[in-house]
Amino acid sequence: MSCIFCKIISGEIPSKKVYEDESVYAFYDIQPMAPVHVLIVPKTHIASVNEVTSENSAVIAHIYEVAAQLAKELGVAESGYRIVSNCGANAGQTVFHLHFHLLGGQPLKTDMC
Ligand code: AMP
Ligand code: ZN
Repeated sequence: MSCIFCKIISGEIPSKKVYEDESVYAFYDIQPMAPVHVLIVPKTHIASVNEVTSENSAVIAHIYEVAAQLAKELGVAESGYRIVSNCGANAGQTVFHLHFHLLGGQPLKTDMC
């Protein structure tokens, strides 16, 4: 498996872990775009939102539970934050292992596209 996020999850590539359980891994983005920039990923390899089905979607709900918990722990729950998942070329997806950016810690741009 050549997927960089699968290698991060397995520990083959180092990361700054912020959370881990049986199905989800979260770590700091290597090129932060906000004071708080964490990536939350399923441990199962799902390439993008395009590959989410009724068979694998339970982990997405769990990721949002983890996001809510991390937002509190990282101090952005009250000030506000954004969760983004880029899918495909036009969205600028660069890593094809489903991931959710949790961004906050400053006012974020409101133009979404
Ligand atoms: P996207 O452009 O939505 O596919 O997001 C991929 C994100 O992964 C980017 O924000 C990168 O900075 C981040 N990234 C790539 N490699 C690493 C790494 N080794 N550790 C942490 N974050 C990474
Ligand atoms: Zn992967």
